[in-house]
Amino acid sequence: MKVEAEAGQSKPTYAGTEPSGDRCLTKRGERLSVAQYVSGIQAGNRTILAKAITLIESSRASDRDLAEEVMESCLSGSGDSIRVGITGVPGAGKSTLIDALGRYVITVYGGKIAVLAVDPTSQVGGGSILGDKTRMNFLASSDKTFIRPSPTRGVLGGVARHTREAIALCEAAGYGNVFVETVGVGQSETAVRDMVDFFLLVTIPGAGDELQGIKRGVTEMADAVVINKVDGDHIHAAERARADAEAALHLLPAYSQGWTSPALMCSARTGRGIPEIWSCILDHHSIGASTGWLNKLRREQRLRSFRENVEAGLWELFVSNPLVKQRMPHLEQEVATGSLSAVRGARKLLSLHPSDGTTADKNCRT
Ligand code: GDP
Repeated sequence: MKVEAEAGQSKPTYAGTEPSGDRCLTKRGERLSVAQYVSGIQAGNRTILAKAITLIESSRASDRDLAEEVMESCLSGSGDSIRVGITGVPGAGKSTLIDALGRYVITVYGGKIAVLAVDPTSQVGGGSILGDKTRMNFLASSDKTFIRPSPTRGVLGGVARHTREAIALCEAAGYGNVFVETVGVGQSETAVRDMVDFFLLVTIPGAGDELQGIKRGVTEMADAVVINKVDGDHIHAAERARADAEAALHLLPAYSQGWTSPALMCSARTGRGIPEIWSCILDHHSIGASTGWLNKLRREQRLRSFRENVEAGLWELFVSNPLVKQRMPHLEQEVATGSLSAVRGARKLLSLHPSDGTTADKNCRT
């Protein structure tokens, strides 16, 4: 999203992310104490929440301990929210739909909404195929909303890790509804599926099922498919698209236990079908809570996240070793040209004995 959530930056800032009522305690880049972060977050101060997310996204080694302490202190206040992932091809109307759903939840239920994004494409050439995020007009000017763009640095794994932590911080700040938007490009959808309770696939009539994920893995992960833009000239094509999506869903096992994923229709522009989408999300939540499935899902998600963190840490540790650093480019070169197999190359690298420069595996000496 092209919405600036950090205080003091020169880019345009939406009122919803940088409200005048949220006092900014520091200059940009300065760090607060753990207690300042935690009390600010718990008081629902959006400026401090944005700063805490910047802290957890930081790649500076000196920020890590501070970030972990802030996270630890906020964990007890997190977890009590409805987490919704929203995906679909660019132009399907995700942002417009998030705005319409958010408006409905705020006006009818009085809730607070946090909108986060996972967009691996925003790292490429500084642009994003997520489209024009000025579509969130209502949310961007609401004081019940916190909008945070996708981090523009780092690989998907890192972005996903940070987003998971950002969800917890938003919950600790009192956001009872967290929407995580992602663009329909494979891996990022899997990453988002793994951090939310409910996963919504947004499609449009007549844009090609294959392109939109109807016949590939995304539908398998969806708790509902919604056909958007059911207005104007699109109305006739929409019912056919809905029936196709429903047929595709019926062929697949449901992702969520005890749940049958429906195919719905809506117009994010006119508001048609928006209450039905929210009521579907609430039904899913209450079924998940009463059967214990939701607890199980979150437990599994936390464990997977833990393992991913261990894996990422091991990789960092390994590649920071001087001997590995020295050998890696040569081995990569050999693997790239095909003179060494990827499997053997990996084994050679892994068998390096970091302390004395020898290899642990005699067979792998070069
Ligand atoms: P995203 O890239 O999936 O986030 O899509 P956007 O929300 O930016 O919307 C893409 C375009 O579709 C914009 O021009 C929107 O105004 C338009 N759009 C979104 N929802 C609707 C809808 O329900 N009906 C119609 N007719 N247009 C819509």
